[in-house]
Amino acid sequence: MNLSSFFETAVPALSRNKSAELGDRTQYIGSSDVASCARKFYLQRKQPATPNLSTLLKFSRGHVAETLIENIFVAGGVKPLFDTQVELQHPEYPLKAHIDFLFYADFDGTPELHVVEVKSVNGIPDEPYPQWIDQLAYQLGLLRIHHPEGKLGGSILAIDLNAGQVHQFNGFEYNDALFNYLYCRALYLLDCLEGREEAQPSVSQTCAFCAYRYDCPAMTLPKVELPPEIEMLACKYAKLNSTKNRADKEMKSIRQELLDFTGPNFKGRSTKVDLVVSSVAPTMAVDPEMLKTQYPDVYPGVLKGRAGYTKLECRPVKGATV
Ligand code: SF4
Repeated sequence: MNLSSFFETAVPALSRNKSAELGDRTQYIGSSDVASCARKFYLQRKQPATPNLSTLLKFSRGHVAETLIENIFVAGGVKPLFDTQVELQHPEYPLKAHIDFLFYADFDGTPELHVVEVKSVNGIPDEPYPQWIDQLAYQLGLLRIHHPEGKLGGSILAIDLNAGQVHQFNGFEYNDALFNYLYCRALYLLDCLEGREEAQPSVSQTCAFCAYRYDCPAMTLPKVELPPEIEMLACKYAKLNSTKNRADKEMKSIRQELLDFTGPNFKGRSTKVDLVVSSVAPTMAVDPEMLKTQYPDVYPGVLKGRAGYTKLECRPVKGATV
């Protein structure tokens, strides 16, 4: 039984089935479209590219996470309080949103509408990404159109399945100005599709998974002639850097497996290796954003300069042998 070649066709089929649940995406602007790069959105519609197997598997982590969260909500006995994949349609334009979880009441039964957007991550970020916030704000905006009255809020639930961590970024509310901006952006995307506007690139952390990155003007570098020895050194640096990145990734997952075995404190020597795990006590740190907002007079007085540095990036050119 050859599972590898089977996966080559089965994983894209799974991805198509999952996309089909959201209807024909070429017929409307969704909340993830509004929050993403206009150039990527435009090219996805006009020159659809099938992502490679690795990217499709990474995307499918999102569906796995949603199913897991739904099972948790059901096991926790709150099934009557929510619906999944709730579709919202703008009354005038082909603008839609699909809400991962829409709660109709709080856990104590108090009526409210609460949107939960699930994000599967590899490492919980300190702050929600701007695209996540925009996506949720667009959903809350369309929800407000359908429910002009009553309490309405939202949260982003980030889940790291590898690390076994989950974090709720809570407290989002309907924001008139932000929704108006996103509504205008959705209309801009419609104009791009109809050739009335040029779809501009906007860089973000999602560029890493973008199938249209290789000729993206935001990523394009000017052509130069490098001395052969410098080119060789830069290639060597790029190669070492990718080895280092692969090693970092592998170390991260090995670290988690070791910690699962040892717990937070462990000391031992086998015939081959010393294994020591110790815990560092939590510390308090000043929150610069809070300081800036709550004590604006004090903030400038506690600023100190930070030395700049030279950033070096060497990446292999697509298709070239390094
Ligand atoms: S690489 Fe980034 S900026 Fe360029 S099209 Fe893709 S997502 Fe947009």
